[in-house]
Amino acid sequence: MPINKPIDMLLAIDVGGTKIAAAWVSKGQIIERRQQPMATDPAGFLEAINQLVLGWPAPERVAVAATGYIDGGKVYSVNQHIIEFWDGFPLGRHLNTRFACPVVLMNDGQAAAWGEYLIRKTSTSSIAPESLLFITLSTGVGGGLVLHQQLRIGRQGLAGHVGHTTISRGPVDGDVQCGCGRCDCLEKVASGTALARQASAVFGRRIDSKELFTMAQTNPEAEAIIDNAAMAVAEAISNFQMMLDVDEVVIGGSVGLADGMLQRIRQALAQAPSLAQVPVTAALLGADAGLAGIMQWSQD
Ligand SMILES: [Zn+2]
Repeated sequence: MPINKPIDMLLAIDVGGTKIAAAWVSKGQIIERRQQPMATDPAGFLEAINQLVLGWPAPERVAVAATGYIDGGKVYSVNQHIIEFWDGFPLGRHLNTRFACPVVLMNDGQAAAWGEYLIRKTSTSSIAPESLLFITLSTGVGGGLVLHQQLRIGRQGLAGHVGHTTISRGPVDGDVQCGCGRCDCLEKVASGTALARQASAVFGRRIDSKELFTMAQTNPEAEAIIDNAAMAVAEAISNFQMMLDVDEVVIGGSVGLADGMLQRIRQALAQAPSLAQVPVTAALLGADAGLAGIMQWSQD
């Protein structure tokens, strides 16, 4: 639950599949923001945290948005291929020991959903949604759900893991077995990792998702991989809309915010029955939606 006390010195951390971002926050304002690559083992992770806070004052509270689901202060990867040591890693206990202050933990997609909901609520230029689904297309595919102005966390912290719902549209390389144990997950088609894997298979050399988007400007085969991913996202949005009937779907993440991706998703969704259609918008907070969300959640 949010804690009703203003914080003078907050350390906000966003742990993704490939990077860790940290912000020193005083009275709701970011004083400084830093970034480190994500580590591959616990010792490396704790060392990266030490590097990130070097020279910063001791926090009164630490607020963490982390990829994976958070249950009882421990973090678990849904897709074990994303962060292998996230297998019940006691993140809360480690940070509590390191900083000797309370630690607030939340899934990064949930934090970003809360950040995107709040900025719409406080904006004067748009009609605030009551219910919103956030989808991030990044190293993996994650998300978060705000229903009737309340963030859904779930019994085991899992709510919003939209990347591990299944779709009928498969990846172009036919690799459908997901690291979560399921087959045909959205994440196997539309994550940055999945785009890189499919592009590398099609073109016979190592290609990352950023290069794929550049290639797609002139190469129809590259464009087809991205179009297929956008159609998969649109199929998933139709599924979610039939279940949830939210006011708005917000797309974030490096792939979601890549040039033309949002337009491709909208075009694909326009082919769905009208009942399944919903306004699809870009994350207003960009790459810092998770940090912003966890900052707000831990201070409200
Ligand atoms: Zn999966």
